[in-house]
Amino acid sequence: MESFMDNFRERSEVEREWLQELFVFVRDNLFPVLGPTTGSVSPEQLSLAMIRRVERAVGSSSARSLPLSYRLISVAELVTWQRTPCCSNLTWSTAQHREWVREAEQALPNHKALPRASLLLIGCLSDGCDPERSCDGAWRVRDATGTVHCELLSPSPLWLGLPVLFPCWNYIPQPALGKDQEVEERGYLELVGCPLALTSVPEMTFNPAEVNLKRAVGVREAAELIQHRVRGLRVKVYGEVSGVYPLLNIAGKSLFCLRLREGRHTLPLLVTEPCCLWWQQCVCVGGSVCVSGLRVCALQGWSGNRVLCATSQSSLTLLPDTLIQDLSDPPTLDKHTPDPDPVGLDPPLSDCSSTGCPLPERRGAGPDPDPVGLDPPLSDCSSTGCPLPERRGAGPDPDPVGIDPTLSDCSSTGCPLPERGPDPDPSPILRPKLSKAISYKGVLTSVLSAAAGLYVIDGKVGLCLAYQPLQRRGLRPGAEIELHDVHFLYRPSPHFHPCMLCVCLHSSLRVTSFSRLGSEVDRPSDAPLPWLLLERNLGVSQYLWLCHCCRALRDRLVPRWVKEECVYVVARRLFECVVTSEKGGGRRDIYREMLQEPHHCPLTEYSVSSPVCEYVSVSDCVCVMEKECWSSLSLSSLLPACGSSLTQAELNPSIAWSVGLSLGQDIQPRPLLLVGVLELPGTHTLRLRDQTGAVTCVAVETGDDDSGGQRAANNTAWIGCLVCVQRFTMVMERFVQSEFPSYRHLDQDSYITHKHCRVYIQLCLNDLQILSPSAAMASLLLRENIRTTQGGERVEGGEREEMSETERERREKGGEEREERRDDVSERKKRSREEERIEEKKEEREGGAKRARQNHTENETCSQPGGGASLPGDRPCISVVMCVEGKEGVAWRNEGIACEGEEAGLSLCFSVRADLIGQIQRWGRDPRNCPLQERETDGQTRTVELLFVRSSVRWFPLIQAGSFYRLIAPNTQDPSVLIGCRVAGRSGVVLHTNPSLLVRSDWRIHTLTHPLLTTPYSQFVSQKVMSVAEVLDCSSGVDLVSFHGVISQRITLQRGTTTHTPTQRGTTTHTPAQRDVEAGLSVRLTVCVEPRGRSLQVYLDLSLTPYPPGLVPGNTVQFTSFQRRLSRVGGVYCRSVPVSCLTIMALGKTDTQSCDSPPPMILLGVWALAGAEQCILGRVRGHVVCVLYLQLQWTCSLCGSIYTQERCTRSQPPCNSTSAVFQAEAKAAVEDGSGEAHIWFSCPVISGLLGLAMPQWEGLQRSLRVRGHLRVYTRGRSLVCDVDADDPLLQYLSCVCSSSTVCRPLTLICTLHTRSHTPAARREDSSQLKRFTRGDREFVTRMPPPLQLTCTHILEERERD
Ligand SMILES: [Zn+2]
Ligand SMILES: [Zn+2]
Repeated sequence: MESFMDNFRERSEVEREWLQELFVFVRDNLFPVLGPTTGSVSPEQLSLAMIRRVERAVGSSSARSLPLSYRLISVAELVTWQRTPCCSNLTWSTAQHREWVREAEQALPNHKALPRASLLLIGCLSDGCDPERSCDGAWRVRDATGTVHCELLSPSPLWLGLPVLFPCWNYIPQPALGKDQEVEERGYLELVGCPLALTSVPEMTFNPAEVNLKRAVGVREAAELIQHRVRGLRVKVYGEVSGVYPLLNIAGKSLFCLRLREGRHTLPLLVTEPCCLWWQQCVCVGGSVCVSGLRVCALQGWSGNRVLCATSQSSLTLLPDTLIQDLSDPPTLDKHTPDPDPVGLDPPLSDCSSTGCPLPERRGAGPDPDPVGLDPPLSDCSSTGCPLPERRGAGPDPDPVGIDPTLSDCSSTGCPLPERGPDPDPSPILRPKLSKAISYKGVLTSVLSAAAGLYVIDGKVGLCLAYQPLQRRGLRPGAEIELHDVHFLYRPSPHFHPCMLCVCLHSSLRVTSFSRLGSEVDRPSDAPLPWLLLERNLGVSQYLWLCHCCRALRDRLVPRWVKEECVYVVARRLFECVVTSEKGGGRRDIYREMLQEPHHCPLTEYSVSSPVCEYVSVSDCVCVMEKECWSSLSLSSLLPACGSSLTQAELNPSIAWSVGLSLGQDIQPRPLLLVGVLELPGTHTLRLRDQTGAVTCVAVETGDDDSGGQRAANNTAWIGCLVCVQRFTMVMERFVQSEFPSYRHLDQDSYITHKHCRVYIQLCLNDLQILSPSAAMASLLLRENIRTTQGGERVEGGEREEMSETERERREKGGEEREERRDDVSERKKRSREEERIEEKKEEREGGAKRARQNHTENETCSQPGGGASLPGDRPCISVVMCVEGKEGVAWRNEGIACEGEEAGLSLCFSVRADLIGQIQRWGRDPRNCPLQERETDGQTRTVELLFVRSSVRWFPLIQAGSFYRLIAPNTQDPSVLIGCRVAGRSGVVLHTNPSLLVRSDWRIHTLTHPLLTTPYSQFVSQKVMSVAEVLDCSSGVDLVSFHGVISQRITLQRGTTTHTPTQRGTTTHTPAQRDVEAGLSVRLTVCVEPRGRSLQVYLDLSLTPYPPGLVPGNTVQFTSFQRRLSRVGGVYCRSVPVSCLTIMALGKTDTQSCDSPPPMILLGVWALAGAEQCILGRVRGHVVCVLYLQLQWTCSLCGSIYTQERCTRSQPPCNSTSAVFQAEAKAAVEDGSGEAHIWFSCPVISGLLGLAMPQWEGLQRSLRVRGHLRVYTRGRSLVCDVDADDPLLQYLSCVCSSSTVCRPLTLICTLHTRSHTPAARREDSSQLKRFTRGDREFVTRMPPPLQLTCTHILEERERD
């Protein structure tokens, strides 16, 4: 030290101090690691060399300036303390640095340049072959304190082992992967400039004279040589590098391949020798190398082909670039004199500018940024060619790696490569496209996901690296990269850039310039994605879809329902739900992929749309529906067949409501897929939600019986489940307020005064795929699983000890699975509780009970992880089991209860009549839906009325009559909470015979589904539900009826005024306009059982109920507690009363064309006798006897009066309508030999009855314009008119009606008049007495009225059958 410091006597005190520190640092940190190659140097010599280097590097004005602001840093200090990316450049002035920053940030404006750190780094470059670890081929910087990975742009083999100063470098910390992360994995160095050697050892300089190519052979010669193997032969080959393939780690053994080229000949070299792996960083495509000591090997895994392999005696020499030109000519090596060294290490610093060492000029890969225009340098790659027949390698040399690559696992990813079955014939949309191999050079502009290997180059080209092992450093925004033999794919996925470059094991990737920009640390949660790619052999489209889903799931579910680190698990399950049949590519054969020419790999072929479905967010789905709602609307199609003759009063109601249905899987261009959490919000409907929004669901379940029939959803375990929805129906209800005068004005939108739509989805819960179950669902699935594995035997609670070993294992396995999800489940629970809390707070603001506040503060600490053992925080609770007998509809009612002190108004509520079974039970924690225990069924059954008010109304969609539930009051051990009280009215009169129980907002309800119930209670009979026919036929004494049927038609009857709008509190989110349209809605539903069976009209008054979704034609609905009424003409109809309840039992099929078959042929005599029991719609073949009645009229479309000569005839008050519609009606007697019927014909079929062609029919209408109205009827054998018997029009019609054109055989499709539904024989009251005269005698007989039919369609003779 003394002698060292003696050299600097004249220096200032500060400088001497700095120098002293430098000496100590060099002595302690650098000197101990010097290898034998350095020769003998003392720490003092080393320090002096260091100071010379530093001074030369810094030196600008004065030769003796020391960078005093710089501090020496050891490797250990760097990786331990440097937590942010930084750069250090000894040679720069501040102005130079500022310019560097400006340039860098200009290129990519969204990024900041790396901050500058004044750190001096020295060390030795090592090839990663430390005694204590296996060689991995990675270059490292080493000092006495440790090692750190480093990336170099073009390192020279001569640099290894020498002590060097790094004048210019970037340090990039890596994201923490876990606690056991090795110190050197915490970050890596990017060595920008050439390192400056601290010793001037002769080897540091490249000596051209030493390049000994005397015994080297060219590629072509070597290729011939390896065909005839000679034992012990060592080959020395030179050539231009045409490919450097990634470093692979197979079962702990590392290897890489490079390919040499000479003219059209190429030759692969396999490097498996650990001490040669570092070559991978030194060689680059386009450079020339000479490799010695190679032996010929046969690869067992690769069709018996022979390759050259590096041995421990092998050495690599980088040849000067100018050699290449000579090599392309026939080699004349003897005369060759290599050019001066371009890679020498003792150059003046100016040669090693900030861009790094000079790079050899590349061929091929132009800087052209357009990848489409690039010619692939190896056109062979794009052709699939004929795959070579499989041959087992019979080469004499053993496989140098010693493993079968097709069966081995890639230890870098740890996944096996499974065998795949033969692919099925691809459908046209899945027909594969061929990719093209190209070279490309560009700047990385963004990193989509480093863990998933997705980047963007030049802002417009996607880059996927997932098909190579992912261990890349230096791929940061701003880095320049060079790709060779990369696959160019066009639109492999709609979610990424249309132009995609994908690397495989045959592609070369190299960073040619390090980025100057800082980049944020990548999310590690994508890291398992490449695993799945390997494990499932995913095609590139599938992989990109998966990556897209991961990103979308993160946006839509994290952190509210899914934890960041669980996104991959969810994405994987989603993928497995969707990709059930699609197969990935064939298994990957590593050697074949790297070595085989022509090249074939999983990227050679790709299908553009796989999987075919599109995962959309809930809000996007709602947008799609709202758009589709109006785009699919055609007003004229909503009108009945006689639409043209409707007056304004008839026309507008018929378009007031309509519905559009479409299946999610029918959406173009790709079927939709939804992912969300099922929840019961404060309203009365079930919802599917993600972070973007929520959509109402009408849900049914498949029944427990084997019939496959549907029933209303009743299982509360679905609440909180994260589900994937693939099969669903989008329902778009449209409400249109309009003032169209007639059908001719339908194209003028100005007549629409208001419109809005209501969109929701319909689904069957059994079609859902659970991505993450709720705690209750998890235990239910587990129990069901056990039940099925036990062959249907039920497992009672507490039988754990009796379980066999295998069952225990299964259970534990399930438990583990649950454990895995426990985190996100509990997270979700926490969230949902937060939501409840918000809800409760809202309620409190509205003046709710104080108790709720107490409850929720206790609740806050309560956590419920999935099933299993009790955890701290699980609070005690009480429960009671109940069977629901009946449910009232949800409505705004004036409930006196719990509203004291509040403003007057109506609150949303419903009540349930339930039998409480057994005693109230105390629990240490929420038992949820665990099987019914014996103690719960002891004791008496008593009936109570459960009142659900305000936010408790959320249970409405899942509480069904006949189902069993466990009602839980949390945070209490007081049984009296669950004992109902008898409510006394304000006047002291007892209002209810049953005690009533107010369900609090924090109470929970768990459904006890079939396997959870013990036998005595599974037989509970629910209330009597009638069929439509029973309602029609039952005795008139019945008042309130419950029945079910299929909605065949829905008509909006009248538009109520807004004065009916009840005061609704905090439960609806609708806009005022929406309320206006829906308020006071009155609806008539036509309900039947079969499409052509008997039907019943049901009138609904929706003014005091929240809007019920799902009342669309096709759906099966249970109508509970409806009033049965008789119309004036004796028809039966039903109407809703305040307690009426509607439940959707089954969803209709969206293909409405299912009943295209013609109705049954029927004889009139049979129909008259059987009435509606026979059928409602039938085909009649008969003969028109005569036209009994015919009326033709021009009607004012506004007031319905007769319209003549372009004006309305109404005078009191005058009507100035300008539009009229033509109406016609006729009645004809038809007989078919078995009986006679009176058949009514209306406008669209009358022209057919009269046998008039369209011009004649229109002419008839025109000729009626003057008088406006004509009514004729049969008297005797002729037609007469009310007015003038000589009217030419009357004569014409009379002539037509009595001619054979009308009185002809016809086949008609007719419906039975309501009046004829009851068979004639049973309608004695309506029979008429009729007199007949025969001679002088008069007979009186009771005649049943003729069969009344309405013709809907005339089938002419040629159309029949
Ligand atoms: Zn490939
Ligand atoms: Zn009028």
